[in-house]
Amino acid sequence: MAATVGPPPPNRPASAPRIAVVGGGIAGLAFALAAHRVGLECTVYEKSRQPRDGEAGLQLGPNAVRSLYRLGAGPGLRAVSALPAELDFRRWDDGTSLLRVPIRPGYAERFGAEHHVLLRADLREVLLRLLPAGTVRYGGRCVGLHESADDVRIDFADGASAVADVLIGADGAHSCVRAHTHPYEAPVHSGMDAYRAVVPVGATGLGRAPAVRLWLGTDRHFLCYPVAGGRRVNLVLVAPAESDESWGKPVEAERVARTLAHWDPAVAALIRTCAELHRRPLFDRDPLPSWSTPRTTLIGDAAHPMLPHQAQGACQAIEDALALATLLAHAGRPGIAEALRRYHALRAPRTARVQADSREYGALMHSPAGAAFLAGTTAEELIDLMAPTYAYDIEEQALATAPT
Ligand SMILES: Cc1cc2nc3c(=O)[nH]c(=O)nc-3n(C[C@H](O)[C@H](O)[C@H](O)COP(=O)(O)OP(=O)(O)OC[C@H]3O[C@@H](n4cnc5c(N)ncnc54)[C@H](O)[C@@H]3O)c2cc1C
Repeated sequence: MAATVGPPPPNRPASAPRIAVVGGGIAGLAFALAAHRVGLECTVYEKSRQPRDGEAGLQLGPNAVRSLYRLGAGPGLRAVSALPAELDFRRWDDGTSLLRVPIRPGYAERFGAEHHVLLRADLREVLLRLLPAGTVRYGGRCVGLHESADDVRIDFADGASAVADVLIGADGAHSCVRAHTHPYEAPVHSGMDAYRAVVPVGATGLGRAPAVRLWLGTDRHFLCYPVAGGRRVNLVLVAPAESDESWGKPVEAERVARTLAHWDPAVAALIRTCAELHRRPLFDRDPLPSWSTPRTTLIGDAAHPMLPHQAQGACQAIEDALALATLLAHAGRPGIAEALRRYHALRAPRTARVQADSREYGALMHSPAGAAFLAGTTAEELIDLMAPTYAYDIEEQALATAPT
């Protein structure tokens, strides 16, 4: 697929804005790359001292993959991803098949891109390698903002500060940028936790057959898929939350496996291939009425954290990044507030829909109705249900929204 987001728009105003991004996760790095591709300079301030993702995988649907290819990330992405041939939904208790959905080459033919599965750290590396050196400043923890009619000042924990024409909060679900620009709204805990680990493929007995496998049970589900070009496997169990004492701390695999006593034994066996899993609570948020002030806006989880049941949180962050960079490139300094207004008008309905769908999919998946639904659905019908998410072309939408 050709990289179509390349040269700056021919009518790009000479007074390109100085852009600061707080947060160097997927949203912040994808925005920096999209900005670079349309000729805008930006600096990303990341609070960690060095790149950091932990061990976890990510599914990227065709909507995000198409965008990343256009940003020139295609070769890097292919080198570190696995491309699943099918989605394989199974019953929780005996592992028998509910529905198998072949997705290669069907997704590429229908949506213009494949479904990729990869390590988060690998995606970050792919994005970082495409950015000019020095774009990301590590150890820059934002602790305050001061927005005036002329600019925004960002204050950091070490006493330093930076000034920009526009500030983008890409600092995740507990965004400090949002806390400075909007009334506080606590994220909503779903009552579920995710346990994650990445193991060598050889330990799993799954072979190299590239599939996303999902066991559906009432109140929990288990998911696994290949990452690191098929050399490793990402394991995820989503289950009712325990006390919050061990959030973020490793949990012994044996303890997790014992909670699956009546499940298909293949699931507990997969969990026992690692020593421990990392547990984190699953949060989302009701859609916010506004994301922006005249010089500050939000992207990714800072704007719209969502439950992972549709595997779209990072995908929507990538769409945000491409849309915002496109709109800012057409705006120039005098047009920043209008560009941020158009950005919110474009992205809010789309991301609110995906947030709501992700909650709905989770509720369905964790009820007996979920298995019954899949058993009575064809592969084509399931792909039709995903089509509005996957066929959506964010670049086309952003260009249609930009002032001419
Ligand atoms: C279990 C699970 C599975 C998931 N699976 C998928 C999937 O398969 N596909 C998918 O698309 N999505 C998935 N998601 C969602 C996805 O992980 C998130 O939507 C995505 O990571 C959001 O990226 P982000 O950059 O907006 O936020 P984050 O990844 O949270 O990054 C925010 C960054 O900002 C930095 N930061 C925070 N505060 C400050 C500060 N004050 N100053 C400077 N820097 C700061 C942080 O250090 C971090 O680097 C999943 C989520 C979970 C929990």
